[in-house]
Amino acid sequence: MFLGCRQMFGRLDPGEGAAVTDEDYMRMALDEARQAAEEGEVPIGAVVVYGDRIVARAHNRRETDRDPSAHAEFSAMCAAARVLDRWRLTGCTVYVTLEPCLMCAGLMVNARIDRCVYGAPDPKGGALGTLFDVSHDERLNHEFQVTSGVLGQECADELRSFFRARRAAAKRKGPDAIEAQSCC
Ligand code: ZN
Repeated sequence: MFLGCRQMFGRLDPGEGAAVTDEDYMRMALDEARQAAEEGEVPIGAVVVYGDRIVARAHNRRETDRDPSAHAEFSAMCAAARVLDRWRLTGCTVYVTLEPCLMCAGLMVNARIDRCVYGAPDPKGGALGTLFDVSHDERLNHEFQVTSGVLGQECADELRSFFRARRAAAKRKGPDAIEAQSCC
């Protein structure tokens, strides 16, 4: 059981019969990212949507779980598979605040997702267009759509303010306490 993710059956209701947008789901992923920050984790959050159903949401818990695979979107996809009771996530869109790494983009191929929507690009590890593009590699047996930059500024700000606060805290403890830091 993944403690850091929740299985969901909800729908978002924007009211007045309006359609739910990518921004609406990304706001939910941002809420997860903030939850990660409150737990002292790098703030990255993810939501998996099947049709108009939110089937899972999760945030980064790498430190808490001492688990190198506990990335937000990885945990959310595993939870979504349990909800849908199948390993194929065909018909699903994964919303995540930071561009997925190679591991998570690889799971998206293996899970056969339809689409990934991410917020901020990751120059140090992005595998959906920045350093690699795992979503459209004809050597692999699955391709999926990617939409980037949805609430990108807010997603990047969340990471920036987290690292700024962490650097300030480390500085108060002395220069030796400042560690090399990375996003994902
Ligand atoms: Zn990842």
